Amino acid sequence: MKVVRRFGPGHRILVTGGAGFVPSHLVEALLARGCTVVAVDNFVTGSKENVAHLADTSTFTLVEADISDGLPGHHPAFAERFDAILHMASPASPTDFEKLPVEILRVGSVATLHLLDRAVADGARFLLASTSEAYGDPLEHPQRETYWGNVNPIGVRSVYDESKRFAEAATMAYHRSRGADVAIVRIFNTYGPRMRPDDGRAIPTFIAQALRGEPITVHGTGDQTRSICYVDDLVRGILLLLDSTETGPVNCGTEHEMSMRRLAESIVSLCGSPSEVTYVTRAADDPKMRRPDLTRARELLDFEPEITPEEGLHRTIAYFRERLG
Ligand code: NAD
Ligand code: UDP
Repeated sequence: MKVVRRFGPGHRILVTGGAGFVPSHLVEALLARGCTVVAVDNFVTGSKENVAHLADTSTFTLVEADISDGLPGHHPAFAERFDAILHMASPASPTDFEKLPVEILRVGSVATLHLLDRAVADGARFLLASTSEAYGDPLEHPQRETYWGNVNPIGVRSVYDESKRFAEAATMAYHRSRGADVAIVRIFNTYGPRMRPDDGRAIPTFIAQALRGEPITVHGTGDQTRSICYVDDLVRGILLLLDSTETGPVNCGTEHEMSMRRLAESIVSLCGSPSEVTYVTRAADDPKMRRPDLTRARELLDFEPEITPEEGLHRTIAYFRERLG
């Protein structure tokens, strides 16, 4: 394992998209380690509420800005150098792909270049949140990092897939040509508290429907698969990569692969809901199957997901139950 340092007290970390679902958990973990954290967010899909409990933490600053317009250099939090920059900002739900296509393209491209420039200037480690969507509708299963993917470059999902693929290319170009210290994590389907009940992704949608007693809307036949990862496992994997000298890309997620039909049935049962599972139209280019090959994460980072789907879903349902009353 090549964990060579530990970001902690005395380190200043910039987290883009820090008020979002995954990034807010990452912010908490970095603060718990003693890091000073600056989160920047324009709240396009995230919410101040996700980090409201950190408002009195002296080592935490939340800056409102759209990083696709450049870094908010006027803000005092940006006057000092950063030791690490975690580029987590991007709308990530398939419903966002239709609502925010240009915003997604800009945050993966223009914003990534701004952040890489800053990382080089500061001598900071730069970590890019990439995605399993980089593999598109994969023809290799499970997906290894060596697989180049099967992406429709002009389809509705392309704004997200190609934006992340561009961000990966930019990250590697800055590494090779400008000496940037970089890491790329390819994140597989992650879920947990702070997802939005209306964000359109399968897990929050199914849970909200089950808790409201509404029909569960499985797309197509529900035979398509995903491998679901509880957010705490993902955050642990990201921090292992951050602390290492690895460039990646490294897959992060779990091997808990299941069909969307089974996922829907499990959620109905865990919620004790009377909801019926129904079948509706499936979106174009929706990947048929997805499971990470975790060999690289295990070998390079000693990463092992720990939380079972039952436990993770149980915790997530508890969060939604409280939120939805
Ligand atoms: P999220 O939408 O909850 O978080 C993204 C955050 O980025 C939001 O708070 C949003 O307001 C912010 N943001 C977006 N554009 C911005 C901009 N231009 N300037 C400033 N802030 C901006 O989504 P998430 O699921 O937590 O995803 C976080 C990251 O992880 C994303 O980069 C996503 O692509 C990646 N990812 C997530 C998953 C997953 O399953 N959750 C899977 C693969 C990759
Ligand atoms: N899905 C579904 N019903 C919904 C939302 C999603 O059946 O209400 C399906 C979707 O078609 C996809 C899978 O669940 O096959 C995972 O979708 P999600 O948006 O959660 O993640 P992604 O497609 O980005 O992997």
